[in-house]
Amino acid sequence: MTFILDCDGVVWLGETAIPGSPTAVSRLREAGHRVVFLTNNSFPRLAEHVAKFERLGIEVDPSDVLTSPMAAASLLAPGERVMVFGGPGIFEALEQRGVEALEPGAGMNGKSGAVDAVIVGFDRNFDFSRLATAATVVRQGARLVGTNDDATFPSSDGLLPGAGSLLAAVMTAGGKKAEVAGKPYDATRALITERVGHVDWVVGDRPSTDGALAQRLQTHFGLVLTGVTPPDHGPIDPAPDREAPDLAGLVKDLLA
Ligand SMILES: [Mg+2]
Repeated sequence: MTFILDCDGVVWLGETAIPGSPTAVSRLREAGHRVVFLTNNSFPRLAEHVAKFERLGIEVDPSDVLTSPMAAASLLAPGERVMVFGGPGIFEALEQRGVEALEPGAGMNGKSGAVDAVIVGFDRNFDFSRLATAATVVRQGARLVGTNDDATFPSSDGLLPGAGSLLAAVMTAGGKKAEVAGKPYDATRALITERVGHVDWVVGDRPSTDGALAQRLQTHFGLVLTGVTPPDHGPIDPAPDREAPDLAGLVKDLLA
């Protein structure tokens, strides 16, 4: 079978592996299953994601790591000029797509239409000045693309504002609805179909992204309670096909 595993809140929290997760990945592989990792985290470059897996004791082939910037780049055409409010992972994905990536405020020259799109991802340096620039370019006619619209992400310090919170500010200030690329949206579904093919399980901590993606792929959703969904949660929509306290427990159930 093929498993798509979310990363934040499933495999790790911040810089720390969730106990039992590296072993659970090994157990799936030893049982002959394929494991592909899918994250809405748009900030790191692919090599940084790979290095993190290795630091936490998980060997991974770079081709088995899919990210929201890859999905976002697929919404843009080679040769387009795109202003980036986000991290190096977005610049990398745009370069690979042949899109010209501009720093915030670059390439405007007062000419309307000089920038084809604004892309918003996770950006710890996002501030009023960047919000004003993004909104101005959007109001001048640029498309607005979000890597993802997660309002928050789990960290070892609790929930922190995610790219979706920044994107919401740009939508409000720019007066335009964004096209969103990451889980659970269609650009990600298309990326999985192209790069992975058939999927048997999507495992994640967030029903609104991981569960909704499973639903779009018409496959099974495994919910784990090590991220944004607390153990004392109410009804879950979409309802998971399996639920477990953590990835180790879920894998144990599925391999039993
Ligand atoms: Mg997650």
